[in-house]
Amino acid sequence: MNRVMAVAARIKEGVSPPPPLVGIEDDEMTGPIIAFAATDRGLRRENNEDAYLIDAGLGLYVVADGMGGARGGEVASQMAVRCMRDALQAEVERCGDVSADTQAEAHPLYRGVARAVAHANASIYRRADHEPNLMGMGTTLTGLAFAAGQAFLAHVGDSRAYRIRGRTIEQVSDDHTYAQELVRAGSLGPEEARHLPYRHVLSRAVGVEPDVNVDVRAMRTRPGDVFVLCSDGLANVVTEIEIRDAVLDTFLRSAPDRLVRLANQRGGPDNITVVVVCVNDEGANDDGDGQDRRSA
Ligand code: MN
Repeated sequence: MNRVMAVAARIKEGVSPPPPLVGIEDDEMTGPIIAFAATDRGLRRENNEDAYLIDAGLGLYVVADGMGGARGGEVASQMAVRCMRDALQAEVERCGDVSADTQAEAHPLYRGVARAVAHANASIYRRADHEPNLMGMGTTLTGLAFAAGQAFLAHVGDSRAYRIRGRTIEQVSDDHTYAQELVRAGSLGPEEARHLPYRHVLSRAVGVEPDVNVDVRAMRTRPGDVFVLCSDGLANVVTEIEIRDAVLDTFLRSAPDRLVRLANQRGGPDNITVVVVCVNDEGANDDGDGQDRRSA
């Protein structure tokens, strides 16, 4: 835990220069799911340590926010999205059919997304252990995999996943910060937490310990559901309602850029990454009752 705190404290000071980030995208417009993304360095950071993935073939959408000195942050976030994709691809190939409408925990993707994050964790930890200049690197990782009318969320850190259904937006991920752990435990009010000096320090991250505790959640999807994945560079300066309005009151295609612009208008203190994922009719479960199953 101390390592996470140390690393997180270092990144909040803002770190080194380095090369541009590449988002990975693949056939974003095909299939029952439509997704768009934007990432931006923001106005105050020297480099972009966020990463995202859109893999329409696999039905996987991911945001990662790296941390660590030297090039550690961007190495960790890029490794995270790639490792998660490769591992989930292997899981899907191994289990054969993910289209069967198996419920929640029984669906192979439920364990699949958790194992994919565990794989990313192990890969990043191992590399950090071998390369001194990457020591202590880590990343948040928030990914959604879609199959059989369900969305499977795997989440570690303080990047966020929101679901917009109708005109209601709901955060479907928990923030893994010490401040929010205290709020969930009932020992701190949400308003108090907002003013803590260490409110952004992570209680969990991918790649900083040999093992990682992954939140997994299965959600039935409905036609028209929109999921928004974002790094804290958006969530810290733009409200839930503003996120909802940006998504609902514009073409879906322009929503990520619009949200990035809004964060930069508020000073752009951090890297900003947004992935918007819309469930079309075919990709959803028409009689979905919206009931969720989750575990941590
Ligand atoms: Mn960030």
